[in-house]
Amino acid sequence: MKRLLLLLLLISSTTFAQKTYLHCGKVIDTRNGKVLNEQTVIVEGNRITGVKKGYLNAADADTGIDLKDKTVLPGLIDFHVHIEGETNPRQYLETFTLNQADVAYNAQEIAQRTLNAGFTTVRDLGGSGVNIALRDAISKGKVTGPRIYTAGKAIGTTGGHADPTNGYRADLAGDPGPKEGVINGVADARKAVRQRYKNGADLIKITATGGVLSVAKNGQNPQFTLEEVKAICETAADYGFHVAAHAHGDEGMQRAIKGGVKTIEHGTLMSEETMDLMKEYDTYLVPTMTAGKVVTENAKKEGYFPEVIAKKALEIGPKIQATFKKAYEKGVGIAFGTDAGVFEHGTNGREFGFMVEAGMSPMEAIQSATTTNAMILNESENLGQIGEGFLADIIAVEEDPTENIQTLENVVFVMKDGQVIKE
Ligand SMILES: [Zn+2]
Repeated sequence: MKRLLLLLLLISSTTFAQKTYLHCGKVIDTRNGKVLNEQTVIVEGNRITGVKKGYLNAADADTGIDLKDKTVLPGLIDFHVHIEGETNPRQYLETFTLNQADVAYNAQEIAQRTLNAGFTTVRDLGGSGVNIALRDAISKGKVTGPRIYTAGKAIGTTGGHADPTNGYRADLAGDPGPKEGVINGVADARKAVRQRYKNGADLIKITATGGVLSVAKNGQNPQFTLEEVKAICETAADYGFHVAAHAHGDEGMQRAIKGGVKTIEHGTLMSEETMDLMKEYDTYLVPTMTAGKVVTENAKKEGYFPEVIAKKALEIGPKIQATFKKAYEKGVGIAFGTDAGVFEHGTNGREFGFMVEAGMSPMEAIQSATTTNAMILNESENLGQIGEGFLADIIAVEEDPTENIQTLENVVFVMKDGQVIKE
């Protein structure tokens, strides 16, 4: 009996001890902002258990992966995606033609594509609730996709950017309330946050100003009172949520920052005064320049968007990059995020090129998508670094991205949670 136990112990310990040795030509050390040469990254289960100089040999029982001619970096984190859908000229009709099951199948394919592009973690900033189910299915290993932190359904005000029935005819529009993410007043604000907690969201998204892609006239006006934003942020804090605020116009942005949001999405018409406010309140800018560029291109295509939207897109889209440049130069904290869904999922890596084009160093751009975003998620011990004890979210590209940032648009190797997804 004793011998049998010992044998069982031995068998189980050998299975658990199986390791994967990745021989990496270069490794991006995101913590110190350095590029390391010839490293072996050792993975056991879903964690990195060692990073050693030189190429260490794997034992017979272990697996070796040759990335000697590649640059290896931590899995990327996109802070602004909409995992449930993707832009197309019929998108406004899809609300009435797609069932939730259709949305779910589409979302699963999008998740797979996002992960294949090297984004092992995403913050989903608003959908219908499929996002929550998809997060759970992925974390249980039923389908593949990035690790998702989701806002569930975004919160707006009546007629605001996140009012789900904007532009509908009166008998269909109804009067959506906090449950549907539409609030008016402080009590509604609290209820909407609590409802999202009940639904299983991880964070809160508000639409602090008008937006481009809603069927409504104004793309930049403030849409919450300061008291409403405060009520949302205070209630969110009770549940351990942080708050992300979509904002194009300056006044709405200021109310959002003073109200306590953690990130400003887009930030298009941000004044210098607001940039100072961002620094004072430790608020981060999520630039979403790729969305700005693609929305501008699509608005020029006849009939792609309803007229009211095309007009706003041409006005707002082209301004995002110049604002990003100014904010970056002024020292505002930058969190990487793209607004994928507004453009084709899986091309999120284009954002890096726009950041570098605007003056950010390639290393800083990479850090914004790794260490910075991990820190905002309170996951600095688990995500965003190739280091001992971190989750084994590891990707590789052909070239050194500090020399050619565009190489991040073509990720050739993806491991998530210690499992090889793409080789
Ligand atoms: Zn968005």
